[in-house]
Amino acid sequence: MDCNPRLLLFILHLLMSCVVPAFLTIYPPNEVNLLDSKASQGELGWISYPSHGWEEISGVDEHYTPIRTFQVCNVMEYSQNNWLRTNWIPRQSAQKIYVELKFTLRDCNSIPLVLGTCKETFNLLYLETDDDQGSHFREHQFLKIDTIAADESFTQTDLGDRILKLNTEVREVGPLSKKGFYLAFQDVGACVALVSVRVYFKKCPQTVRNLASFRDTVPIDSQSLVEVPGLCVNNSKEEEPPRMYCSTEGEWLVPIGKCLCNPGYEERSSTCQMCREGFYKSTHGNMECSKCPPHSFSHHEGSLHCGCEKNYFRAEGDPASMACTRPPSAPRNVISSINETSVILDWSWPEDTGGRRDITFNVLCKRCRGTAANVSTSGTLHCEPCRSNVRFLPRATGLHNTTVTVGDLLAHTNYTFEIEAQNGVSPLAFKMRQYAAVTITTNQAAPSPVTVIRKEKTSRNSVSLSWQEPDRPNGIILDYEIKYYEKEEQETSYTILRARGCNVTLNGLKPNTAYLLQIRARTAAGYGATSPSFQFETSPDSAFSISSENSQVVLIAISCAVAIILVTVLLYVLIGRFCCRSKSKHPDEKRLHFGNGHLRLPGIRTYVDPHTYEDPSQAVHEFAKELEASGIAIDKVVGAGEFGEVCSGRLKLPSKKEICVAIKTLKGGYTDKQRRDFLAEASIMGQFDHPNIIRLEGVVTRSKPVMIVTEYMENGSLDSFLRKHDAQFTGIQLVGMLRGIASGMKYLSDMGYVHRDLAARNILVNSNLVCKVSDFGLSRVLEDDPEAAYTTRGGKIPIRWTAPEAIAYRKFTSASDAWSYGIVLWEVMSYGERPYWEMSNQDVIKAVDEGYRLPPPMDCPATLYQLMLDCWQKERNNRPKFEQIVSILDKLIRNPCSLKITANTTSRPANLLLDRSSAEVPSVGTMGDWMDAMRTLPCKEAFSGVSYSSCDTLAKTSTDRVVLTEVHVTPATCPDWEPSMGITTL
Ligand code: AMP
Repeated sequence: MDCNPRLLLFILHLLMSCVVPAFLTIYPPNEVNLLDSKASQGELGWISYPSHGWEEISGVDEHYTPIRTFQVCNVMEYSQNNWLRTNWIPRQSAQKIYVELKFTLRDCNSIPLVLGTCKETFNLLYLETDDDQGSHFREHQFLKIDTIAADESFTQTDLGDRILKLNTEVREVGPLSKKGFYLAFQDVGACVALVSVRVYFKKCPQTVRNLASFRDTVPIDSQSLVEVPGLCVNNSKEEEPPRMYCSTEGEWLVPIGKCLCNPGYEERSSTCQMCREGFYKSTHGNMECSKCPPHSFSHHEGSLHCGCEKNYFRAEGDPASMACTRPPSAPRNVISSINETSVILDWSWPEDTGGRRDITFNVLCKRCRGTAANVSTSGTLHCEPCRSNVRFLPRATGLHNTTVTVGDLLAHTNYTFEIEAQNGVSPLAFKMRQYAAVTITTNQAAPSPVTVIRKEKTSRNSVSLSWQEPDRPNGIILDYEIKYYEKEEQETSYTILRARGCNVTLNGLKPNTAYLLQIRARTAAGYGATSPSFQFETSPDSAFSISSENSQVVLIAISCAVAIILVTVLLYVLIGRFCCRSKSKHPDEKRLHFGNGHLRLPGIRTYVDPHTYEDPSQAVHEFAKELEASGIAIDKVVGAGEFGEVCSGRLKLPSKKEICVAIKTLKGGYTDKQRRDFLAEASIMGQFDHPNIIRLEGVVTRSKPVMIVTEYMENGSLDSFLRKHDAQFTGIQLVGMLRGIASGMKYLSDMGYVHRDLAARNILVNSNLVCKVSDFGLSRVLEDDPEAAYTTRGGKIPIRWTAPEAIAYRKFTSASDAWSYGIVLWEVMSYGERPYWEMSNQDVIKAVDEGYRLPPPMDCPATLYQLMLDCWQKERNNRPKFEQIVSILDKLIRNPCSLKITANTTSRPANLLLDRSSAEVPSVGTMGDWMDAMRTLPCKEAFSGVSYSSCDTLAKTSTDRVVLTEVHVTPATCPDWEPSMGITTL
């Protein structure tokens, strides 16, 4: 090498200013070096040919890091051809390589005295071989990659110095196929310093994208993109196959698909890590783990679910994010309303729903022996599950509403209903079951209909039938009513028979005729629903033709039958007479004939609840006569009923005298139910036939307006009538009125009808002062009554008139009617005073319950006051029966003197009412004693230890309200008081 000092200076300059320190070099991650001259600390060992050409020089950079460079600068000589060849470089997986050269190149103009041979380029070449060929070197084997020129050579400084600039050139080579290659640098007369040579190839480096890991991938030169499948990282699962493309530039492109962390793991720094304690993740996904919901916990890492705290549960379908819940508490405020053999149960939602909304209710029915108070020695009621035919409406389990109707229970039976609230976790917590229980006793109920009727024998004039007892007799069947008629006549004329047993023979039928028949059973609770119509036909005349050999037998049989019939008729007449005398109520078979649906032979019958009819309009037509609207003339409005006006008017029936009537109308726009309820009153009234019960003339249902026509009661309702005529009647007149009411009530109770709303306002008075019980209906009676108030158990009750047991637990009986009668008695004797005056309903209930009773009205005969007190006995069985009341009043009327003993008061206690326990009231012990006292009471001392006042006081009236504190009895002579009009029977 020429030791030109300027050249050496140049080289030194070059080395000190241009070299990039190797240890600082950081290459892009997608570049894989195959050769880096700077990385070598020692001699590189490259071949230089000829030997005076390229020269390897060692130096240090500014950090004193040794580097190796090559330089050549034979610019002063002609025909330069200097080669520098690298060592053999294994290709590895590279298909395409990049050669990065850093060099300086001296500008020929800057070199003085050059002889025109100076060059400013050098050549880059390569040779592929499968093995290292050592020092063997042939120029012609090398392929040229490019001629390398400097972008910049020297630049001029302000001081006029020239500074070397480092050039970087990169060339691509490929595709390569052999195992390795050499690079060669050919200098043809330039002044060049090769500072570094780096050979590298590009790859897509291993990476994790969307939780999928992609391996190192070397791009294939022939293809622009390489599709690379990804592998899900640990604890994750492929959602959609992950893929990416590796470009020739070593870049990952277009990630597709992804992986999701497994349950219990969440994504953290491109990995799936376990959930921490107190957190959970129940599904695949790259969301974070969630905190455990209320009433749950997780004590370890990687939880899929959080466990529930003690007594808390998770139902099968509950999401893991939902709080743990528990069974609900018991339902509250269970109310039962008993209607014969069905009960409506109502309750409120449980106080604690357990944190859930899926509450349903189950009702368990148990039939219990004895009452709730009557428990076994083990302390439990003797209960057994109810029979399967008990009906629940809508159903017994899985109820979403807080009410259920239970039907088809046995009459007079104790039942316990356990009402349990359930939610989704109740099945998991059986031991935590809580329920509310209610025990009820069913009432009477009419029997269910007869469903099976069989024809046993038919002849031309008779048929024998048998039937099965109803499925649910609901009591002892007293008898069966058999109603039949010719099919063609369509019920316009029919016959009714009664039978005690389950069979009957119908005689006197027309031959060869079709009949329809219906049967209904009767118990103490009344008639049950009628059976479906049963059709039978009598034999034709020809069927009666008999063969000659039998004719004699038949003749004998007929003779016998005629004889038997004659004897039977005779006996019937005799027994009938005897029965009439002995007032037998239920002959074994009693025939009642009805024509045009009208009763011809009324016997002692039982009230039939029209609601037991499947079709209530059938009941109306059974018990009420259909009237022609043209026969009715309306005169004026006399009152207002619930369903429309009440008018007075006239009724003219064909071939009868015109009579005054009251006409109740059903106002327009009524619903079906209103029509039914309106006509129900007629269905009930039409069953009664008594001088002290308002008489039904008939109904108009086939034209509008629908009407109920009754006898007209000139003086209207009793309460207003009395108020209008305050103090104007004699004691006997008042007792007469009371006797009429009692007589009507006796009739009703004999019929098995409980009025429930007996009050002076529901008694009508005619021009003869005859009092008649009116206002019949079912629930309507109470709904209609302005006095009726809602009780805590639901339902409306006229508190002041109603017996405590009826208020407390709806025990309505003739005995509760007797209590009401006592109040009517008080109303009558006080000329329409309001019972308990201005006291509130609640105060009335409380006072009555504590034993307080209304005091005697002013100048009230002691006997009548005693009767009131007896009617107000707490124990209902101790109250007088209406029969007894009628009898007592009859005796009073026969002995008017007894009315002169008054039960007056001289002062009024602060609480207005009389405490029965402390009051001095005439007491005659039991009802029997009472009756005896009445029998022996003619105008003599009936009670001892009491003072007397004059008879006149009875006739006197006063508007002052005073309360009894002492009793005055008058033994003086009494004028004979005649019963006034209005007293029908004595
Ligand atoms: P009711 O709907 O039965 O309560 O009748 C309302 C009012 O009509 C009663 O208070 C009476 O004033 C009057 N009223 C009802 N029926 C009759 C009748 N048969 N005779 C006279 N007035 C009656």
